[in-house]
Amino acid sequence: MGERLFFGVLYVIPVALLGLAFANLWSGSRAEAIPVSLETDPLAVAATPTEPALHSLANQTFYALAETPDRSHVTSRLQSGGTLAEILDDVGVSRVEAAYAIAALRKIYKPRYLRAGQDLHLTLDPVRPSTSGTARVHLAGLVAKVDVERTIMLNRQADGSFVARELIRETKRQLVRAQGNITSSLYLSALEAGASDVAIIEFSRLYAYSVDFQRSIRSGDAFDMVFERFVDERGNHVKTGNLVYARLRPRGRDLQLFRFETPDEEIGYYNEKGESARRFLMQTPIDGARISSSFGPRKHPVLGYNRLHPGTDFAAGTGTPIFAAGNGVVERASRFGSYGHYVRIRHTNNFKTAYAHLSKYGRGIKQGHRVTQGQIIGYVGATGRVTGPHLHYEVEKNGKRVNPMTVKLPSGRKLKSSELPAFEQERLTIEQLIENAVAANDKTAPIKLASDS
Ligand SMILES: [Zn+2]
Repeated sequence: MGERLFFGVLYVIPVALLGLAFANLWSGSRAEAIPVSLETDPLAVAATPTEPALHSLANQTFYALAETPDRSHVTSRLQSGGTLAEILDDVGVSRVEAAYAIAALRKIYKPRYLRAGQDLHLTLDPVRPSTSGTARVHLAGLVAKVDVERTIMLNRQADGSFVARELIRETKRQLVRAQGNITSSLYLSALEAGASDVAIIEFSRLYAYSVDFQRSIRSGDAFDMVFERFVDERGNHVKTGNLVYARLRPRGRDLQLFRFETPDEEIGYYNEKGESARRFLMQTPIDGARISSSFGPRKHPVLGYNRLHPGTDFAAGTGTPIFAAGNGVVERASRFGSYGHYVRIRHTNNFKTAYAHLSKYGRGIKQGHRVTQGQIIGYVGATGRVTGPHLHYEVEKNGKRVNPMTVKLPSGRKLKSSELPAFEQERLTIEQLIENAVAANDKTAPIKLASDS
């Protein structure tokens, strides 16, 4: 049963899940060492505690004791390349104790997943002089909020062993809708309508195959996007989920896309006829770049005389990733005269694409290697005969170079007739759900159903 059946239905990550996580832990440790039962566990029944409240919560839960006067709290930030072991060493925890602590933590979370910039809130108890070696403190507790939904905790028991636990924030999933007309840019207008960065990026990616955002979008063009949003019980936005529906009307065209999972479990976006948003070739094999020179006759910027410019130039900073415009095989990935570092890909239907002036090649981009559409094949540079960093992009059809922006391309994936009934069903479901989606910028009533005008 696909998750998509539940679109629009508010549901929570059940509290039972918390219980499960704890039960797992307990079986791996000694249940009798924990001073609270699952039924009365303040962690299991707590709303979402604020970060400062976590320390005292951890103290209550694990120690059932008042703060001791010589207990201290420090917050250490993980540096780039740093490890938890190093942080514990720095604050004066013995290596042996640190190893036990990390082993306990590993049962719920791999410390190597901790990222630079992560704050670790440490509770430290002094070491009694009689037992001290070089260690200055015992690690009494550790709390770290590792992502928006998850806080991990580690506590030292009376016998010196460690127990790890995690607090998972309850979230509700709702469908929200951001729609409006483009004023200055799609990005700003969509933000204003309440769309998240993640949703806007996904939206732009989908239309990058069929719409040239630099030239085909006009002020006043309508956009509409419906996506999942996860909120906590206070209505705070925790994260953005999948884009479910998208609609763009550039210059009077009307392009609707519906998210659909085919029976072979491939997730894609299709128009109302069941044609994939993905095309045979991407029109723009680079993100956020501006066309600086089009296909056609022009005065050459370096050589100074008129001749055909056989491709499209995209101005972008050195190092900007360049994508394979379509699936294919790398025919060449090497220096090529005035083209500098150069990649050429052979596609089906007698098409080839070429990418010039690269600063470097993408990983594994070598002659004879297969690439998939959207894979990074290289990075923008200024090698060869150029005046500045840009991508020179060419499309070749039947051995002849053609205008990449206007060439007629074979269509992308089309749903098979056997897949169409399921798609039709899904499309109708989505259309109904859209009507009940909450306006994405309605901050006052996140659970209110909005019919939108
Ligand atoms: Zn060029």
